[in-house]
Amino acid sequence: MGEIAVDDFRAEVRAFFDANAARKGEERRDWGQGSDRVGLLDEKTAEEERREIEAGRAWRATVFDAGFGWITGPTEFGGGGLTAAHQRAFGEVASEYRTPSEAPFGIGLGMVAPTILAHAIEDVKQQYLQKMWRADLIGCQLFSEPVAGSDLAGIQTSAVRDGDEWILNGQKVWTSGAHYSDIGEIITRSSPDKPKHKGLTMFLIDMHAPGIEVRPLRQMTGGASFNEVFLTDVRVHDSHRLGDVDEGWTVALTTLMNERASIGGGGVGSASTGASRLMETARRVGTADDPIIRQRIVDLYVRTNVARYNNLRAMAKIKAGQLPGPEMSIAKLSLTQNMTRTADLIADILGPRITADTGEWGTFAWAEFVLGVPGMRIAGGTDEVMRNIVGERVLGLPKEPAPVR
Ligand SMILES: Cc1cc2nc3c(=O)[nH]c(=O)nc-3n(C[C@H](O)[C@H](O)[C@H](O)COP(=O)(O)OP(=O)(O)OC[C@H]3O[C@@H](n4cnc5c(N)ncnc54)[C@H](O)[C@@H]3O)c2cc1C
Repeated sequence: MGEIAVDDFRAEVRAFFDANAARKGEERRDWGQGSDRVGLLDEKTAEEERREIEAGRAWRATVFDAGFGWITGPTEFGGGGLTAAHQRAFGEVASEYRTPSEAPFGIGLGMVAPTILAHAIEDVKQQYLQKMWRADLIGCQLFSEPVAGSDLAGIQTSAVRDGDEWILNGQKVWTSGAHYSDIGEIITRSSPDKPKHKGLTMFLIDMHAPGIEVRPLRQMTGGASFNEVFLTDVRVHDSHRLGDVDEGWTVALTTLMNERASIGGGGVGSASTGASRLMETARRVGTADDPIIRQRIVDLYVRTNVARYNNLRAMAKIKAGQLPGPEMSIAKLSLTQNMTRTADLIADILGPRITADTGEWGTFAWAEFVLGVPGMRIAGGTDEVMRNIVGERVLGLPKEPAPVR
């Protein structure tokens, strides 16, 4: 795409969107009008999910083929070679248009692709990155196991070398989107005799390879957006190793930093939208005069704004070329804490309407949000683990004593 001034680029982006997408209408959500859904996880039927992925894939292909699919990516791998300022300009224009959901590609593009770019060999970057950014391939993250989540370095899935290949055996769990993914970033134990952080190796696997079985897990919200993944004698070529043998922990950190940045960074939204919807709901159900409810709505508004400014500060650091670090743990923690406060508050505003569907617009719909919040406090590192990181690495407090086993 060559050097192009941000303003000229913005004009090109605008022309692209005008030709390919409809502008959003007035976004006011009038009481009783339109959908009242307030979910956090993906609660869809298999058919709805299939249609969402199809529409998202077609849209990403259009965006990519127009040259806007991977704006800041290196040109040798199919990226645009432009700056973060160009990416921001694209995001600003894009937010004014109605486009298909890109949620199914979030893990692949937010976490797996940056790890491939940082740790794969040249051929693998050539083979996968462009296809991922065009959504020809969808990626998932195979880290957690039944006995290893927060203590990720305790994973047991084994990788045994066999000539130019490795043979993988074990079980992963909570793998979001594994059932529609084409490739997966998997952490394995390659040297069981070494200390646990030292004997891990990361690979990129084909999710359609023989020996991989994906079984959906239903969550309490009703959807089934994550899975168990069983691996039996799955073969992967050594060229698909990410990073060095036994250096998988370093590679995992790249993925986890990007994960926290993408979850926490999602909380930069407007505080007033959330607060006004809560206030409107309280008015409709007759709890708006309760002084405690009023105080809690304002408290939430203030806290959401503080989190927003904190995130903007962290984002500014990233834009200035510094790596996302422990700040992203603060971003993730404040986002999920504010979600928890919102869930508690809306449950008190609505009372029994949150547990039984009276058919009244904008009331029982909150149940999906309330039931989804605990998952957000766990995904991408639990609140407790985030507190440990903030305590030890941001505040410099002494390390917590390890539990006696
Ligand atoms: C919505 C969702 C999507 C997910 N998607 C994926 C995915 O795509 N890929 C993937 O690999 N994983 C995924 N996960 C799994 C997630 O990464 C793990 O659930 C998470 O890391 C916690 O691990 P665990 O479930 O084993 O809980 P555990 O680690 O067993 O934790 C149990 C409890 O102990 C606490 N605890 C643990 N260690 C400490 C400590 N040192 N100090 C204080 N308290 C502690 C925890 O905070 C928690 O309350 C997903 C999870 C959710 C909820």
